[in-house]
Amino acid sequence: MSKGLLIVISGPSGTGKGTVCAELLSQTPELAYSISATTRQPRDGEVDGKNYYFLTKEAFEKMIGEGGFLEYANVYGNYYGTPLGKIEERREAGQDILLEIDTQGALNVMKRCPDGLFIFLLPPSLPELERRIRGRGTETEESLARRLGSAKKEIEIGRSYTFVVINDTVRQAVKRIKAIMVAEHCRRDKE
Ligand code: 5GP
Repeated sequence: MSKGLLIVISGPSGTGKGTVCAELLSQTPELAYSISATTRQPRDGEVDGKNYYFLTKEAFEKMIGEGGFLEYANVYGNYYGTPLGKIEERREAGQDILLEIDTQGALNVMKRCPDGLFIFLLPPSLPELERRIRGRGTETEESLARRLGSAKKEIEIGRSYTFVVINDTVRQAVKRIKAIMVAEHCRRDKE
């Protein structure tokens, strides 16, 4: 049996990464989600230790100093990071692990774990992305413009990922990611 996959999913804000990952996890019980740490404030309904580990800036920086992160990045003014935990041991035991992280973090994981499976989730188009972000009703015109600007840069970085999946519908996107996972396991089984 091949080692578990380290699956890294990124995509511009508003692409629907969260929904796609949640659906993927619910359909794939053998896939474990890596819970990130962050210094941002919890949103309504978010639970510490489930959605994120919510840390103070001091605690986060202490953990950086102790080498406790596989990667970390500063996203929109807050720290986000993947705790090292037992990722490698779990992969050795055959466990697939899912990281939902931004492109800066993913570029660092590419260096540290070149055997990772990097999947970039694309919105169907930029106007559709704008429509989805506006639909959330959480952004000002200024922050919307900033998010759309960084989306264009992130889409460029997305070209260095192993695969690109267009999130037309959640169902289709999840189906494609599951197909990639099966194909990747078969490819690695020959190694
Ligand atoms: P949000 O605050 O909306 O939950 O997440 C903001 C951004 O941070 C998203 O692009 C998300 O993928 C990214 N993010 C979440 N966890 C991590 C992490 O552990 N590391 C990195 N580099 N980015 C993360």
